[in-house]
Amino acid sequence: MKKYFLGENYALIDALYEQKQIEQSDWFALLTMLTPDEKEYLRKIASDVAKSNFGNGIYIRALTEISSYCKNNCFYCGLRTSNSLAERYRLTKEEILDCCSEGDAMGFNTFVLQGGEDPKQNDEWITDVVRSIREKFPEKAITLSVGERSKEAYMAFRDAGANRYLLRHETRCDEHYSRLHPAVMSGEKRRECLQTLKELGFQTGSGMMIGSPFQTMEHIVEDIMFLEQLNPEMIGVGPFIPAQGTPFAKYVAGSVENTLLVVSLLRLRFPKALIPATTALSTLCENGLEKGILAGANVVMPNISPANVRKKYSIYDNKKSYGTESAQQLHLLDKRLNVIGYHIDYGRGDYDNNKK
Ligand code: SAM
Ligand code: SF4
Repeated sequence: MKKYFLGENYALIDALYEQKQIEQSDWFALLTMLTPDEKEYLRKIASDVAKSNFGNGIYIRALTEISSYCKNNCFYCGLRTSNSLAERYRLTKEEILDCCSEGDAMGFNTFVLQGGEDPKQNDEWITDVVRSIREKFPEKAITLSVGERSKEAYMAFRDAGANRYLLRHETRCDEHYSRLHPAVMSGEKRRECLQTLKELGFQTGSGMMIGSPFQTMEHIVEDIMFLEQLNPEMIGVGPFIPAQGTPFAKYVAGSVENTLLVVSLLRLRFPKALIPATTALSTLCENGLEKGILAGANVVMPNISPANVRKKYSIYDNKKSYGTESAQQLHLLDKRLNVIGYHIDYGRGDYDNNKK
């Protein structure tokens, strides 16, 4: 039986960097046994790996939050259908196209449409919106994040012009999944959707919250094992943040430090993956943007939703959507990036199979 000691894990970090494949027990040690110096060593290698793959450019995606209605009841999310405190809105196709035009004028080359599973924004409606964006903007990347849909729906989205899809698996452990979601939802279904998206050729994003209620470090190891199997092109990890009106409203938020640790570990394991410095990280921590990037993230997703709805997409409390989080303030974002030696990369930022 291998023994792990506090302060003796530099070799494990090197092994992850050099070989990628490490044992399950090694992952657990990396998540639980690193000293502050070892964490700094890991962070530095992760940021070097990101730089060697992406240079000093940080990709930007214009995020439109298309609906705050959701038929689902995830226990952690402020948009859950039973949350009577949630303010609801849904954007029209014209409003979404206006957001894209605004994003185009600002230089964005990826549009992300994210929302709850709104029955009124059904498969046909989403397909039509994607087709219209594609007609107007033939060169842009279109990313969808509109939850679990049928294979036929995903095919229709793809054929209408969508290139990428974000659907976090949330947790690989089915028992943990059942403590975060009502019984009608299942982790297995979520994973099937992810498999389908990959098979259909989407650049696929998965991921999980860090510090969600009842999560253990063993769960995060299972999550990483799952990501190894799926091999996603994009990975989103952000801290859990409580949302008023939900069953977890009084639970503690996830740890910024653990989130950064997981970002760095994922960067070493998935050097080419597109990993955002999430809004949740920036919401919990003043310098979350900088910290995320210096931990190995290489994407940010400024908000371009209409001003009158932004506060209503409240998936968790105090979610940031202005200042550097706002698409209208790209100059502020660039300034902050410059201070830490980075700059905005206006390219589409597709996953590149040819990178190392
Ligand atoms: N409905 C779609 C879905 O579930 O995939 C897209 C929108 S959903 C709000 C996007 C992501 O937000 C979820 O995958 C979840 O990980 C994250 N999220 C929801 N509630 C959160 C919370 N309280 N704290 C942090 N992240 C949260
Ligand atoms: Fe709906 Fe997504 Fe929130 Fe779950 S996480 S309630 S599916 S918006």
